[in-house]
Amino acid sequence: MSRMKWRADRLSQLGSSIFAEVAAWKMAAAEGGMDIIDLGIGSPDQAPSAAVRQALSDAALRSDMYAYPATKSGLPFRQHAAEWMKHRFQVEVDPANEIVTLFGSQDGLAHLAMALCDPGDMALLPNPGYPIYAASLALAGVESVLMPLREENGYMPDLDAISDADWDRATFILLNYPNNPISAIADLAFFERLLDKAHRHGVLVVHDLAYSELAFDGCETPSILQIPGAIEQAVEFHSLSKSFNMAGCRIGFMVGNKTAVGALRELKANIDYGIFDPIQEAGIIALQEAMASNAAPKAGKLYEQRRNTFIAALAVEGWIVAPPKATMFIWAKLPPMQWSMDEPWNSRRISQEMLRRTGVVVVPGEAFGSEGEGYVRIALVESEERLREAARRIGSFIRGQ
Ligand SMILES: *Cc1c(COP(=O)(O)O)cnc(C)c1O
Repeated sequence: MSRMKWRADRLSQLGSSIFAEVAAWKMAAAEGGMDIIDLGIGSPDQAPSAAVRQALSDAALRSDMYAYPATKSGLPFRQHAAEWMKHRFQVEVDPANEIVTLFGSQDGLAHLAMALCDPGDMALLPNPGYPIYAASLALAGVESVLMPLREENGYMPDLDAISDADWDRATFILLNYPNNPISAIADLAFFERLLDKAHRHGVLVVHDLAYSELAFDGCETPSILQIPGAIEQAVEFHSLSKSFNMAGCRIGFMVGNKTAVGALRELKANIDYGIFDPIQEAGIIALQEAMASNAAPKAGKLYEQRRNTFIAALAVEGWIVAPPKATMFIWAKLPPMQWSMDEPWNSRRISQEMLRRTGVVVVPGEAFGSEGEGYVRIALVESEERLREAARRIGSFIRGQ
């Protein structure tokens, strides 16, 4: 009799088991009566604007909103996405052929390797990196070659350290600036070098720009498509989840090279029948509001303020961390522990002990790849008052009290 396990081995390659561990530590602390300050998952704690919620609600009450969305063209959302690309980055794209709408950019990232690669192909991924990148390859049976992102290189990959053989073998190279978890940003000069290299080796550049609207101190977060001719060689992922607090009603899009856009659309046409129309309507309103005001979305200002508050409060406790220029995350070197334990400290051990003693949840850097060891990721998803409280508790923890 065959042994039935009803669970594919590939599931074990989806993301790091560390996230499940952190969830278990958190559950244990909460069951022990601990007041939890969860700075673990990067889920926005604010709501979309009133106009966005109104549009969602109005559309949901309409009786013509309940067919499979794909029975309509879905063009209005893509047209607005194209207008926003023009408004925000001066990039002109054809909404019919160069944009595919997604259930959040994660939907597209998850299916990307399946749409672009065959089993045994290879793609270049950042280490550390957002977990869905590696998961996407695992689902498609695609091999990865990891590019270390290190402080000494400004957290940029060393493009010349990748061998010509690997460049020739890769189907795509995936990068993400502003970066999660590192919060580093890239400039157009870097993207130019990247595109040049990719062009010479016939590699598609995939850029995940989920944090374009969460930049601080007036920093620029360019679209790779701003570079003339980039559309021949690149696609870019955009998400309304973080910029407009729409994580609970996710919508995003991939824009760029029409062959790659077409491949992802073709795969998705076999799986889903489009995003609930009221969410598309709400997304249109969010993009319209962004275009009507020349100010950056409110979410950016909020995280900038929280960053300032939290970094200052941690410094008072003796933990000096580099201020991020963008995103909702602080990528912090491990704290200067003033007490010793029997085991050597690493990011996992510190995160677990910190949570057990203080109720403050952070993610061990190792969860994002081997290069993340020595760091923890802290999400600024609680109020300034709670962040100050978290810093106080962390201070006592560092001092071993
Ligand atoms: C949050 C996040 C996404 C996914 O956002 P969606 O809700 O799926 O649009 C993609 N990439 C990065 C780096 C993220 O942090």
